Amino acid sequence: MKILLTILDGLGDRPVKEFGGLTPLEKAKTPNLNKLAKNGITGLMDTIGRGIRPGSDTAHLSILGFPPEKYYTGRGLFEVLGIGMNPRKGDVCFRANLATVDKSGKIIDRRAGRIGDTSPYAKKLNGITINGIKFLVQPGTAHRMGIIARGKGLCGDVADNDPHIVGKKVLAVKPAKNTRQAKFTAKVMNKFLAKAKEIVSKNPENVRRKKSGKLPANYVLMRGAAFVPKLESFEKKFGLRAGCIAGGGLYKGVARFLGMDLINVRGATGTPATNVRAKFKEAKKALKKYDFIFLHVKGTDTLGEDGNCRGKMKFIEKDDLAIGELKGIKNTVIAVTGDHSTPCSLKAHSGDPLPVLINGPGIRVDAVKEFGERACASGGLQRINGGDLVPELINLAGKAVLYGD
Ligand code: ZN
Repeated sequence: MKILLTILDGLGDRPVKEFGGLTPLEKAKTPNLNKLAKNGITGLMDTIGRGIRPGSDTAHLSILGFPPEKYYTGRGLFEVLGIGMNPRKGDVCFRANLATVDKSGKIIDRRAGRIGDTSPYAKKLNGITINGIKFLVQPGTAHRMGIIARGKGLCGDVADNDPHIVGKKVLAVKPAKNTRQAKFTAKVMNKFLAKAKEIVSKNPENVRRKKSGKLPANYVLMRGAAFVPKLESFEKKFGLRAGCIAGGGLYKGVARFLGMDLINVRGATGTPATNVRAKFKEAKKALKKYDFIFLHVKGTDTLGEDGNCRGKMKFIEKDDLAIGELKGIKNTVIAVTGDHSTPCSLKAHSGDPLPVLINGPGIRVDAVKEFGERACASGGLQRINGGDLVPELINLAGKAVLYGD
């Protein structure tokens, strides 16, 4: 028996007036999801805990069986892993943006006019060494970069230099704790940022940008400092060989943190334009090789954050069609859920629980006939916690280890 866990990011929602009080999922035509729910077991899931508004990073750790209170050190780690960098235990990782500031250090644009490619800048920053600490810098998507600080005496207890507000002055990095390591890390960071400012301002790319009326990239904003603990292994913890199919960097990063193989799919972009069908096709194929496939779809969350309830509903219909690719799949426990709700009315994550369905051979089928927030509330799984999901799936796949004798 194999396991396929599909996470539709930000799936859950609240009643939408123009849908007559239905949610985008309830309004969408989802014959394939309904069929899976009808022949499976359903319920609601709080990914971290009741009423907790999860970030996508912490929610995924929890759902994949690694409690964030134990394993989460910050977003920066998943960011650098997601763009293919190789952090080591003891490093500190950051998410970074190229930004535009004026002479006094006030932020004009946090994304340097939505600069599309940071590689000419990252190349010149990569390898700088300050007080024995080496900085590794790689381009991410659009205006983003990943930064790793490597060397002795570092820690992740430092604040961002990013005030997150246009018109405010960039901040000096401050230690977030009164420890020698935090003070040292902040000192090195400030030296790096001063040097980085000098280097990026001088980049010939800025001359070209100015000529075409674009904002220069003359500052580096860093945030989400994360100390690298020991990298974990999903396979070691659960005894399952696992692969991940995802377009978004964060999800690839979480998967790499857990030692999962990344399975690349053409057209998997992590945007609403993604080729979901290709992802499910590939998942079906990959299940021949792997015991567990984690398939992530981002578009639901993006459209929820845009407040685009019609778009979210249509995107769910597109996902449902793609799930049709699983037709004829055998010996597989299929689970579909989300990582948190992203109600269109809030344009943000919320702590509302998510519908969850599990389908597969031998499952105690419940009376629920469709996949929706309210329908699943009366399902046989009742209300579970994110951390319960993988153990439930392993049990249903007949792979659970006997506890006791
Ligand atoms: Zn999410």
